[in-house]
Amino acid sequence: MPSALITGYLDIVRSTTGAEEVVFWCADPETGELSAEWWSTAHGGEPEHFVEQTWRSLVTWALQQNRAQVIGDEEIQLVAAPIHGESGAIGALSISSEAGLRGGRDPLKAAAARHCAHLGPLHDLIRARGQYHRATQQSSALLTAAQRFSANRSIEALGDSITTAALEMTAGYGASLVHWNRDAETGEVAYASPDARARPGVRLDFGGQVARACAADIPVVMEDARRLNGRVVLFGEGEKVGALGSLGILPLRGDGGVIGAVVIEGRAPGDVRQEDAKNLRLLAMLAGSSLQTVWEIEEITRRARTDPLTGLYNRGHFEDRLHQMIAETARFGGESSLVMFDIDHFKEVNDTHGHPAGDAVLKGIARLLEERVRNVDTCARYGGEELALLLPRTELDGAVELANRLRLAVMDNPVRWGGGHLLVTVSGGVSSFPRASRSAEALVAAADAALYRAKEGGRNRVEAAPPIAFPITL
Ligand code: GH3
Ligand code: MG
Ligand code: MG
Repeated sequence: MPSALITGYLDIVRSTTGAEEVVFWCADPETGELSAEWWSTAHGGEPEHFVEQTWRSLVTWALQQNRAQVIGDEEIQLVAAPIHGESGAIGALSISSEAGLRGGRDPLKAAAARHCAHLGPLHDLIRARGQYHRATQQSSALLTAAQRFSANRSIEALGDSITTAALEMTAGYGASLVHWNRDAETGEVAYASPDARARPGVRLDFGGQVARACAADIPVVMEDARRLNGRVVLFGEGEKVGALGSLGILPLRGDGGVIGAVVIEGRAPGDVRQEDAKNLRLLAMLAGSSLQTVWEIEEITRRARTDPLTGLYNRGHFEDRLHQMIAETARFGGESSLVMFDIDHFKEVNDTHGHPAGDAVLKGIARLLEERVRNVDTCARYGGEELALLLPRTELDGAVELANRLRLAVMDNPVRWGGGHLLVTVSGGVSSFPRASRSAEALVAAADAALYRAKEGGRNRVEAAPPIAFPITL
């Protein structure tokens, strides 16, 4: 049963690397001979890549040399890496594809090392459970956590699993998950349990306890943290200040170093104990590799919905948010609006100053819009030089007013270019649902028609769609 946890994890390794076969090999403690213990294969059957002895000896070599081995130059076909547990070498992980794996040599080696760092503790946990037929509360909390981690695909879900496990394993009252940016040496809270002192979005102070633990990659377990009270910052500006009795800060590692931390706050001294440190380290290892996977997935999703030039959402994401906004407005009532902007005589900017100048103008206007709308609004690049704003819970008149404010802001903020400035204007078309349109498609069409009228009317102006006349019922 718990070994489904390992095969489940191997499935993830297989899908993220594009492998045909992923095998967890266990070494015989006496002879050192490897046998395939768990696997995930594309064909669902037993692994077949190792019938030929050449590949198999490379897996053995990875274990004996205690370093990753790779077959292939441009197309990598096999990566094998050693797996360690608490008491030393356990075996090896092989990731293979005759057709070639996804990713280059170094990223694949780094990923293999990370997966091995995940599988080692997982193996130990499962073995320990089998041996004693009785799990301690901590190791069963860890196993449950590991099970949940593999299923979590969003930072909220994973943050919830990690902080829940951290609180189950200690007597802490609040726990949070921090996202650390190694290059910039900054970080912010990504997730927090309800009672934790920091909320998501709180940025870490350079000199705060959490930032220091992350930068130094040193775990902190303070059984008695009372001397910190009122004297030091844990996270940064915006954190609640409350009495702290004990504290745990566990840096989480990804491929190349620290990628985050789990912070556990205890009300009384001893709520987080030195005794917990070993299991908390295990938790940190499992959490670190899961976190990296989720952040990779989130980054891929973010890229898929972002326009690379302007950094605004792209058309695909605009359509998703548009339909969501309409559905919510239809369900909960009220009015929501759409503004469509189109840059005036934009072709002339390109023709006169060159395409890069046009790009700079687009970027500048995108930034300007983004800075001036609410968090709940969506700024998207609808087409070439057409930018769209989705404004939930905003009436037509309010949207027109905002559109005009933005239009004037564009006039007031010419884009710097080549030592001078590029002055452009925009025209806008505004429509709303349900006052001026009755569907997502009609909302876009009405804003488009209004934009057309703004262009016809001389540009650098905003036009609104006419409200739909209600039929009179008697
Ligand atoms: P109008 O006032 O009627 O909107 O005039 P216009 O010149 O802006 O209209 P038109 O639609 O004819 O031209 C749009 C131009 O936008 C043409 C195209 O080359 C340019 N464009 C579209 N996408 C980009 C881009 O990513 N970068 C740059 N530099 N130009 C772009
Ligand atoms: Mg256009
Ligand atoms: Mg234009």
